[in-house]
Amino acid sequence: MTKALAIETRDLSKRFGEVRANDRISMQIASGSVHGIVGENGAGKSTLLKMLFGLYTPDDGEILVDGESIKFADPAAAMAKGVGMVHQHFMLVEPFTVLENIILGAEGSRNLDEAKDAARVVLLELEKKFGFNLPLDEPVENLAVGVRQRAEILKALYKGAETLILDEPTAVLTPQECDQLFALVELLKGQGKTVLFVTHKLHEIMAVTDDVTVIRAGKVVATRKTTETSAEELAELMVGAKVVREVAREKHKEHKLRLALKSVSCTNDQKQTALKAISLEVYDGEVLGIAGVAGNGQTELLEVITGLRDVSAGSIEMSDVIVNAHGVSTDPISLRCMGMAHVAEDRLKTGVVESMSARDNIMLGYQREPDFSKHGILKLKDIAAKADEYFESQDVRPRNPSLPIGSFSGGNQQKIVIAREIARNPQLMVIGQPTRGVDIGAVTKIHDQITELRNAGKALLVVSADLDELLAISDRIAVMCEGEVIGVMPVEEADERTLGLMMAGQRLDQTANAGSV
Ligand code: ADP
Ligand code: MG
Repeated sequence: MTKALAIETRDLSKRFGEVRANDRISMQIASGSVHGIVGENGAGKSTLLKMLFGLYTPDDGEILVDGESIKFADPAAAMAKGVGMVHQHFMLVEPFTVLENIILGAEGSRNLDEAKDAARVVLLELEKKFGFNLPLDEPVENLAVGVRQRAEILKALYKGAETLILDEPTAVLTPQECDQLFALVELLKGQGKTVLFVTHKLHEIMAVTDDVTVIRAGKVVATRKTTETSAEELAELMVGAKVVREVAREKHKEHKLRLALKSVSCTNDQKQTALKAISLEVYDGEVLGIAGVAGNGQTELLEVITGLRDVSAGSIEMSDVIVNAHGVSTDPISLRCMGMAHVAEDRLKTGVVESMSARDNIMLGYQREPDFSKHGILKLKDIAAKADEYFESQDVRPRNPSLPIGSFSGGNQQKIVIAREIARNPQLMVIGQPTRGVDIGAVTKIHDQITELRNAGKALLVVSADLDELLAISDRIAVMCEGEVIGVMPVEEADERTLGLMMAGQRLDQTANAGSV
C-alpha cells in the first residue's frame, strides 16, 4: 500500500521578474509525517510555502491536497482544505487576547461574548489534546515570542488545519523554546497531523523530520529519508559543492608592520569612553581576529581605524604614517588611496544603498576613479562589464546586476561588497562581521577569500562575534572587553573556553588558573 499524500506539488513554478524563485518544484509530503524543507537564504522556500497557502498564485504547475488538484484563491481557501501556516513574522494583533486573536474572523456569532465562550470550550479540548497551556485571556503583547508562536499554532488547529506549515519557526526562538517547539511538533505528528518544517539549520532537520527536501536556487535538488542522510550530505546538497571547513593556510612569515594602534582611546556618540588605551599591531600576511561580546568597543575600534571617528588619545599608524592622532585625522577616501579597504560591520547602513542596482553599488565610493568615469561622465559599459565580472567570480545569485541590491540575500550582498573591496587590491583589509546573516555556502567562500588575501601577503583585521569563525581564519586573536584589549594570543593557543573567559573580562594570567579552582 502506498502511503497517502497530504500534499503533492507537480512542476510548480513562480517567477518574480527575472528571478525564478521556484522552478518546477515537485515533491510529495506523506500524510502524518514531519517533512523538512531546507535551503539557503534565497533558495525559494518561502515562495513555495506561500503558494501552498494561497498567498501567491503559481505561474505554472499543480498543487494536490489529499490527492485532489486545487487552486487556492486566498489563504481562507487553503484553510478550508485543512492547510494552515505559521509565518516567519507573526500575524497576531498585539492588544487583543490570545482567545480574541484565535477567533478573529471566525466569530460565528454576532455576540462576541457568546462566540468567546463557545471558542473557549473547543480550545480547551484542543489544548488538552496537544499539551498546550496558553494564557487565553492575556493580551498577546505581554507574551514571550515562543508563547506567541504556540498561539499561532493553536489558531491554525482551531481553524481545522490538518497540515501545518512552519516557515523558519526557530529563527526567533531561544534554545529552550526550540526544544519546546520540537516536542510540540512530535505531538502534532502523534495526533496524525502533517507538518511542513522549513529551516536553513541542518541540525533541526536532523532532529525533527522524517523526510527532507533540499531546495537550491529554486529547484529541488534532492529528497531523502532523514535517517538515510546526514547533516554533511545535506550541507553539500544545499550549496552544491563540498563544504570544506579547513582552509589551506601557509605558515605565517614575519612581515612588515602594516597597522599599529598605540594607546588609542576614544569616546562613543554619547561622549562616554569607548576605547581605553588600546594597543594592537597587524602585520602583512596575517589575520588579526578581534573577539568580544558585541558592544565592548569593537564598533568604535573599526571606526577609528577606518577614519570615521577621531581618537581622544594615542595614535594610529598605517604603513608608517600617522593617520589618526590628536590634531591628525585622515578621511576614509584618503585611507582608501593609501591601500585600506573596509567591509563595514553594518552592511545595510554603510556598505550599500539598498534601492540602487547591484551594478551601481559596485562603483559606490569609487565613481570618480578612471576605471568608472572620465571627465565626470560615468563609463556605463565599463561599469557593467566589471559588475558581470564580479558576479561571475563571486558566484552571486541571481546572476543579474541590474536588480536592486536590497533584493539579494544577505550572503549575496556581502559577496558583492567584498568583491568591490578586493578589486582595489588593498594592502590592508578591515572587515566587520564578515559572515553575519550570510548562508553557509557563502561563508565558506568568504573565509577562503580572506585566507587567500592573507596568503598573498595582505594584512587583515577582522572583527567577529562568531568565535568559530575567528578560530578558523585568524593567525592571532585579540579579545576585547569594556573598551580594553584583555589579551592577544596565537590561534594555536586559543580555544573557546579561554576566549569565553577573556570575553567576560578575565585576563590571560587569570584564565590559566581558572580551570583548577
Ligand atoms: P527563502 O525563503 O528560501 O529564503 P524566498 O522564497 O524568500 O527564499 O526567495 C526566493 C527568491 O525570490 C529570492 O531571490 C528573492 O529575492 C525572490 N523573491 C521572493 N519574494 C519576492 C517578491 N515578492 N518580489 C520579488 N522577488 C522575490
Ligand atoms: Mg524564507
